[in-house]
Amino acid sequence: MSEEQTEPESSHISYSRLTYEELTEGEFSKLHILRRVALESVWGLLEGCPVYILAKGATLLEQGQSNQTMYLVMDGRLSVHLDHPETEPVAFLEIGQTVGELSVIDDSPASAFVIASLPTKLLAIDESTFWRMVEVSHEFSTNMLLLLAGRLRANNSKIIEGLNQRLKLEHEATVDALTGLRNRRWLDSTLPRMSSRHRFSKKPLSMIMLDVDHFKKFNDNYGHAAGDRVLTVVAKTIAEKIRPTDLAARYGGEEFSILLPDTPLAGGIVAANRIREAVEHTEVVCADGRHLPPVTISLGVAEATDMESGSDTLGRADNALYQAKSNGRNRVET
Ligand code: GH3
Ligand code: MG
Ligand code: MG
Repeated sequence: MSEEQTEPESSHISYSRLTYEELTEGEFSKLHILRRVALESVWGLLEGCPVYILAKGATLLEQGQSNQTMYLVMDGRLSVHLDHPETEPVAFLEIGQTVGELSVIDDSPASAFVIASLPTKLLAIDESTFWRMVEVSHEFSTNMLLLLAGRLRANNSKIIEGLNQRLKLEHEATVDALTGLRNRRWLDSTLPRMSSRHRFSKKPLSMIMLDVDHFKKFNDNYGHAAGDRVLTVVAKTIAEKIRPTDLAARYGGEEFSILLPDTPLAGGIVAANRIREAVEHTEVVCADGRHLPPVTISLGVAEATDMESGSDTLGRADNALYQAKSNGRNRVET
């Protein structure tokens, strides 16, 4: 390894070679990777290794650059930045920690920008010295494995954290905040899938559209908060009265849609009436303790045919709902 490759370009303000005095017992024991390593067993390799002092703000490594050196932080602190040196640091490397060892081990380019966030003193161990140390010191190798295991665990928990965050966001994006049912967005993305699954499986699929009767009057009489309470009561009743395989969504306002896989029209009508009767008999208890009279709902049911799209079927259920309204409300039509 040539000296030029080992030296970080234009980022150090001073450069020297490691001396025995510099690596006093105190300094030595600070370096995690040298923990429990007998100094005499590796001194022959470490003697004369380059020592850099980086000015605050100096760049040690650039993301994507090739690197064949492991750096040990003897003093100061380094910050790690992804994509761009100006981004928020994703990690700091403190006294005793190392950087660059992965590139040395697998010959991969640096995975991030590494910048001195304080004036920082570094011991540079080049590739051949690194592998010699692995050979001569069992403790050095053990420390290296522990370090890699720690990195792996930290990465795993970051991945899991990111995955959980994504699942949470996906869930929030498809759930209606007021009722806890799925929202219109979810329905729009699910309908085509449900419909093609139905066509493929040759099993029946029914859909229900339902709407709260005279809801405007209820809002006017008891207030918007009481109206909101009605929506949660209706949603809860729907959820309790359908099968686990049925899927309910808030279509918008005071309208709800239910998809009933493996259910022919007759079954859809039974389910619709079960929900209708339950809503009719559920009194509305407000957050302020007021007991309000139950509301009623009107429902339309349609069974999917092979020829139509999912939204066509839902449209027919909506037409049937309109019929239920004009035929007197609190009823089911097809
Ligand atoms: P119909 O029996 O024909 O369905 O009459 P309706 O009064 O229920 O129908 P209309 O479409 O005239 O009124 C719907 C009302 O629903 C009007 C709107 O203020 C109310 N609404 C829609 N979304 C919400 C909501 O999230 N919370 C509350 N409290 N009211 C809502
Ligand atoms: Mg209504
Ligand atoms: Mg409506």
